[in-house]
Amino acid sequence: MSMPTDGERRQGRQSLTVKSLRAQNRSAALAHLITAGSATRAEIAAVNGLSSASATNIVGDLIAEGLVAETGLLASQGGRPTSLLEPVPDGAYFIGADVGERGVAVELFDLTMSRVDREFRGGRSEESPDAIGHDLTDAVEALRRRNLGRWPRVVGVGLGLPGIVETDASGAQTLYAESLGWPPVPVRPLLDHDLPIIAENGAKTQAKAEQWFGAARGVDHAVVALLGRGVGLGVIADGEVYRGHASSASEWGHVSLDRSGPVCRCGRRGCVEAFLGAQAILDRWAGLGGAFEGSGWGALGELLDAAEAGDGVARQVVDEVVANLGVALGGLVNLYNPERVIIGGWVGMRLMERLAERIETAARAAALRRPAEQFSLLPCTFGGDTVAIGAAVMPLESLVSAPLVEQSRAARSAG
Ligand SMILES: [Zn+2]
Repeated sequence: MSMPTDGERRQGRQSLTVKSLRAQNRSAALAHLITAGSATRAEIAAVNGLSSASATNIVGDLIAEGLVAETGLLASQGGRPTSLLEPVPDGAYFIGADVGERGVAVELFDLTMSRVDREFRGGRSEESPDAIGHDLTDAVEALRRRNLGRWPRVVGVGLGLPGIVETDASGAQTLYAESLGWPPVPVRPLLDHDLPIIAENGAKTQAKAEQWFGAARGVDHAVVALLGRGVGLGVIADGEVYRGHASSASEWGHVSLDRSGPVCRCGRRGCVEAFLGAQAILDRWAGLGGAFEGSGWGALGELLDAAEAGDGVARQVVDEVVANLGVALGGLVNLYNPERVIIGGWVGMRLMERLAERIETAARAAALRRPAEQFSLLPCTFGGDTVAIGAAVMPLESLVSAPLVEQSRAARSAG
């Protein structure tokens, strides 16, 4: 066996570079087509800084993969008409699952990220890891039975989970849902199906959905704060969802605002969630003598209505919510210097409908002057269903980063 010559080495390096460049260009072109919905070859070339010959090659590859098609002609000034390209909806499918404390919503999306089917399991008052695994497998199987023709093109399953999701060196993932009181849960056994699985913390998947298709599109620095039963956060830094050392970064819900504050579900005191989670807000109202019907969505609406109608106690509670949210967001602005601060989750959406200006003023006042001038505050584009879409973005990202054939080859060599 002889050592490769310098020329051979150079050549090897070069072909590797050409290949990875072509792969990068394919990823950028496909991502552009999926987010824009349609484009011409010239637009793809312009957006990605490609020559028209390269753009034509890349588009040829995507057409051969069955992911992109010419769907019409656009008249062009003086020259030949140019073809319009669009992603082929039936070219690939993605499953996104929102695994919550109260059930599992599993949704099937096509390549345009339109939802084509949906299945829900659960509705218990408390979930357990065993019940979730059973529900998830059952729901995916129901989707498979209804979508047999599409199934061979399902790229994988993304799971948005209620806790910290760690990935070890072998690629195995584990869920740590401390505030639900669960032991560490291995992810792979949750789904008894031979589809690839990628799991992530639910708030981080929502940040992905906003980054690809929503309010965080086109910016490299954003924070996506989610207020619901729990409080979560996804930080987009330098265009990537920020994870930290072992992926627990941005557990903002359990950052303490007050060490003698109310007890949180995590057992500590004064966490953001212990002030701004749905139950915390309603408990505070009840504690001050507020009387209301029901719980959750309806009760929060009653609180906001009562405050607007001039009820003193309701006003006090809403003032506290605005002040606490402002301080908590101001801290994020100081930490991350976001271009956009995006608020979602069902509690967050309700608050933003009525109180966006006050929340913005409180957040700017709580941050240092320079970063306080540099962000805009927006509601999430996606309402309640975001976790499932964001979870489905994970298998979408794996298709965007490598063609399906290469993925199955990689899976075979790994298995
Ligand atoms: Zn906590």
